[in-house]
Amino acid sequence: MAEPRHALKANKTCDVKGCASEAERSISGGAAKEAELKVDEGMKRVHLCKEHYREYKKLSKKERELETLGR
Ligand SMILES: [Zn+2]
Repeated sequence: MAEPRHALKANKTCDVKGCASEAERSISGGAAKEAELKVDEGMKRVHLCKEHYREYKKLSKKERELETLGR
């Protein structure tokens, strides 16, 4: 929403609640929800730090359908 015009990628922080690490990746809000990450509802993009991205990948292994959508 109220993002600075020239948001620097390096300044993004992880969107998981209680985490203040630097974000390295972003995933879709739906994917974050599927992986049951603690993020705000209704987010289109969710930024994750390295650690949470790893966690997301682990958790989302069962939810592979998301990646194969669009067939
Ligand atoms: Zn994090």
